[in-house]
Amino acid sequence: MNLNEQVLEIILKNPGTSKKILAERFGLSLYRLNRLFRHIERDLNGRTLVHDDERGVWIVRLDDSKCLGMEWMGFQQGGYRQCDCKSLFQDGRCYEHSGCEDIEMVAFNRKLDFLAGPGDPTARSLSQLTMEVVRDLMANLERIIPITRRNLKNKLELLKILSAACVALKWKEKMRRQRTEGYVPHEFAARSRQSSVNPFEYSLKKYFAELEIPFDSDKDQVLKAWKRLALCYHPDVMGSDGDEEKMKAINLAKDSIFRVKRWD
Ligand SMILES: [Zn+2]
Repeated sequence: MNLNEQVLEIILKNPGTSKKILAERFGLSLYRLNRLFRHIERDLNGRTLVHDDERGVWIVRLDDSKCLGMEWMGFQQGGYRQCDCKSLFQDGRCYEHSGCEDIEMVAFNRKLDFLAGPGDPTARSLSQLTMEVVRDLMANLERIIPITRRNLKNKLELLKILSAACVALKWKEKMRRQRTEGYVPHEFAARSRQSSVNPFEYSLKKYFAELEIPFDSDKDQVLKAWKRLALCYHPDVMGSDGDEEKMKAINLAKDSIFRVKRWD
């Protein structure tokens, strides 16, 4: 008896034998055992070999007119059983078991890969896109009616990721708005209450003073003040009367105010 036949005999006598036990018994690695299974499968007229790590190895008689998918019945009920449904797809399986790819889902996944970059799309990678694009993707996906359970699962998973990306984008947008409106985040607020001088405000006041304008000046006033001073001190304009140090100081003041206020 060759190795294939010996292994097959054990499985037929003791269905559900674990792969580990088989591998130990014949002195094979799991990799070689799995390759051996492929050889065995070729000789199983009208039957199929089902194996997984948890439930061991089983031989199931096949009815070609039915779906080739397997259902787990439990050890007491004889392990795996062939699915009772009609085969509907090229891979000889039903809606539930088919691994066939839905053309629309494939196209959608390609588009998603293209937009989100390499690797499986995640909420994080999708939140790098704009809200418009994400909303558009969601609308596209919602319209697709998947042809198999597998594709339906894929659709639901992607919808979940997309809506998580949507939430992340909304949050980002909120944070951006709060920053532009001069909102001070909670942790900074707490710190500034402790010290008598808000470090932000202190340095900002200094910069406004440098530009010789009041602390509550707006963007236009800052720009005007900066231009006026630049005309007075710029070495290119004033020649030897220019003041490079002063020029640096007013540039720093303007840039710093713009940065802190988040004006562009
Ligand atoms: Zn089935």
